[in-house]
Amino acid sequence: MDRYDVLIVGAGHAGAQAAVMLRQQKFEGTVALLGDEPEPPYERPPLSKDYFSGEKPFERILIRPAAFWGERNVDLLLNRRVTAVDPAAHSVTLSDGSTIGYGKLIWATGGSPRRISCAGSDLAGVHSVRTRADVDKMMDELASTTNVVVIGGGYIGLEAAAVLAKFGKKVTVLEALDRVLARVAGEPLSRFYEAEHRAHGVDVRLGIGVDWIEGKDGHVTGVHLLDGEHLPADMVIVGIGIIPAVEPLLAAGAQGGNGVDVDGYCRTSLPDIYAVGDCAAHDNDFAAGAHIRLESVQNANDQANVAVKHILGGEDVYHSVPWFWSNQYDLRLQTVGLSTGHDQAVVRGDIASRSFSIVYLKQGKVIALDCVNATKDYVQGRALVLGGIAVSAEQIANAEVPLKSLAAA
Ligand SMILES: Cc1cc2nc3c(=O)[nH]c(=O)nc-3n(C[C@H](O)[C@H](O)[C@H](O)COP(=O)(O)OP(=O)(O)OC[C@H]3O[C@@H](n4cnc5c(N)ncnc54)[C@H](O)[C@@H]3O)c2cc1C
Repeated sequence: MDRYDVLIVGAGHAGAQAAVMLRQQKFEGTVALLGDEPEPPYERPPLSKDYFSGEKPFERILIRPAAFWGERNVDLLLNRRVTAVDPAAHSVTLSDGSTIGYGKLIWATGGSPRRISCAGSDLAGVHSVRTRADVDKMMDELASTTNVVVIGGGYIGLEAAAVLAKFGKKVTVLEALDRVLARVAGEPLSRFYEAEHRAHGVDVRLGIGVDWIEGKDGHVTGVHLLDGEHLPADMVIVGIGIIPAVEPLLAAGAQGGNGVDVDGYCRTSLPDIYAVGDCAAHDNDFAAGAHIRLESVQNANDQANVAVKHILGGEDVYHSVPWFWSNQYDLRLQTVGLSTGHDQAVVRGDIASRSFSIVYLKQGKVIALDCVNATKDYVQGRALVLGGIAVSAEQIANAEVPLKSLAAA
């Protein structure tokens, strides 16, 4: 049986960063980065943005050049899937029945796209957007696609809709709630993005559910809505979230449910097993200590760094300001902090100018900002979030007053 001092399962953002960090910190033990996809670690955000639009080739979204891993003495074990973990034996079992031993295990498996549970969801032409393979399949079908239905008005669905609208496709976005981005942003931002998409010809439908998906000869032809309407579709994109890929860990006895529970050092409840990235449920200081999972590159990288430092004897706990971005059309959204639980959403600047921020307050303190084409606010607003700075709505709404002056006040 092969054995590694550190075995990293999941070769995505968090797994790759853990391997990079181990070597940056001069760790000299054996390291393997094992993942079930065929490619070396690559960035996922471009999959619904400039990789999908064809502006960035695959080589430019690799997290490190392919040769990097060998040069750093990291064994890249691709196309391999862990199906079971034996914490007592310190080993994992792969889908081919082989086993690999570990000293420390870093679980960085992200999640798999939530499937829509209705008839027709398995037809060809119904896609999720999680892997390069998913997006390559969509790109192959683009030439023969006229009508696209996007199910889910979250960031991934909206970004894909923006690319498809630019390609001249007839796009409909279906959102079950009464506004897009309802789980992650305040109402002014939702309404702004709805208006932008409509201005680009996207038909945004709110408060609407899917009844079933229709097909012919095994390929999707349309979507039937719960109100009885039928929308023609040659392509359906389902963007309704992910299910964390933690089954083997939970089966091995790790605490968790929606993800695997980790402490401030990213340790699971099992000995010598850490979990990082989208699959790791943790108490987040920027969500008032709530036990949450974050799905962002920032969280994947920062948790990987915390886990590695702990493995190497450090005591840093996870305490990073969350940040995120989204590109749609010519709009660059940059988010800092978590707006969940806000009791005030203050618009800073003029929404009509397409350069503005939404500042989220809770009990008078800044907890997050959504900045649209407003990088200065994003950069300066970070200190307000980090410090939990108290401001008045009037002060913060005045775009003439730089945020850094409020942070210093
Ligand atoms: C289309 C898209 C757009 C996004 N845009 C943004 C953005 O703009 N900004 C942002 O901050 N974040 C964005 N995200 C989220 C971000 O990509 C994720 O938060 C990040 O990839 C999480 O990293 P991770 O390592 O936890 O998981 P992943 O990157 O998903 O890596 C997990 C890897 O583990 C593999 N795996 C799973 N189970 C097993 C197993 N049992 N054995 C072996 N391998 C396994 C998976 O196949 C995958 O390769 C986006 C995500 C997607 C899909």
